[in-house]
Amino acid sequence: MFASKDIGIDLGTANTLVYLQGKGVITREPSVVSVNKRTGKILAVGGEAKDMLGKTPGSIEAYKPLRDGVIADFEITAEMLKHFIRKARKGRKSKVVVCVPYGVTDVERRAVNDAIEQTGIRSSWLIEEPVAAAIGAGLPVSSPTGCMVVDIGGGTSEVAVISLNGIVTSTSVRVAGNKFDEAIVAYVRRKHNTLIGEASAETLKKEIGAVHPAMENKTMEVRGRNLLTGLPQTLEIDSVQVIEALEDCVFEIVESIKHTLEETPPELSSDIYERGITLTGGGAYLRGLDLLLSEQTGVPVTIADRALDCVIMGIGAVLENPEEYGSVLTNYRKQIY
Ligand code: ADP
Ligand code: MG
Repeated sequence: MFASKDIGIDLGTANTLVYLQGKGVITREPSVVSVNKRTGKILAVGGEAKDMLGKTPGSIEAYKPLRDGVIADFEITAEMLKHFIRKARKGRKSKVVVCVPYGVTDVERRAVNDAIEQTGIRSSWLIEEPVAAAIGAGLPVSSPTGCMVVDIGGGTSEVAVISLNGIVTSTSVRVAGNKFDEAIVAYVRRKHNTLIGEASAETLKKEIGAVHPAMENKTMEVRGRNLLTGLPQTLEIDSVQVIEALEDCVFEIVESIKHTLEETPPELSSDIYERGITLTGGGAYLRGLDLLLSEQTGVPVTIADRALDCVIMGIGAVLENPEEYGSVLTNYRKQIY
């Protein structure tokens, strides 16, 4: 089914990763594209484009085309995909397996497929994100035991129970990394009358952020603009404030896990109570999230190894072992391969 040099793509809302069969992960870049607004020409893709976010002069715009777990800007997403595919395939005849955010519509899936075909690729398959994440986390997806994976990315948090290579129950909420950053911006604005950028909020979240008071309290300085004076202002923020800022977001994720557990057939939920929940995606690294989720749900929680790479490693496993995992793939018409 797959030959050497076939390509896997994790088209994430925050990061896009590319896997080359026989080689491993070859690209790991932010899902950002910068465009010259006058000519429509793409200036940069990935890290270089991310550095331009929020700093561009009038004629240049840096976009996150997959904001909030939906394909917000179709053309730009297609251009970004084409850029990564061209880089990976170097003119070879390759097949592509792509993972799109779980909440996207059929129209969007179809359009992803069209963008891939425009690069000259003839066959492409889709893989459901939670299934890829679970395979990449090393969970026994093909066995009849239930396992639960919670993937917290940039745009969406996806909760899924998987058994026998398929999703039994799942919930997707549009509360994840981006919303965490926005919540921190809103909190600092409310408490300190100071406007900070989303990039600063993301740094705070990663460096000192936490969601459980048992975590060590750390502090960090951040710069913003005082909304009363209009002047630059430096503030010291600590973990306790981040916990308060993220409370509502985390509550929604807890609720979606509880909801999914309620919908799970009892045989499978007893497996989950025993084997626990596995966290994947960048949000898995929020300090204290594992502790908080296990306290709130009564289920043990573990953070997957290399949580940011689980989806692409799952896609890679499918490319390397199609006999074992091929049945998890669908094409855009949703037919089983
Ligand atoms: P996606 O699959 O949607 O592209 P990822 O799984 O790549 O998302 O995760 C990206 C998100 O994870 C971003 O919002 C980023 O801020 C967040 N993230 C990355 N590292 C950390 C960390 N150490 N602590 C908290 N959040 C993190
Ligand atoms: Mg992801």
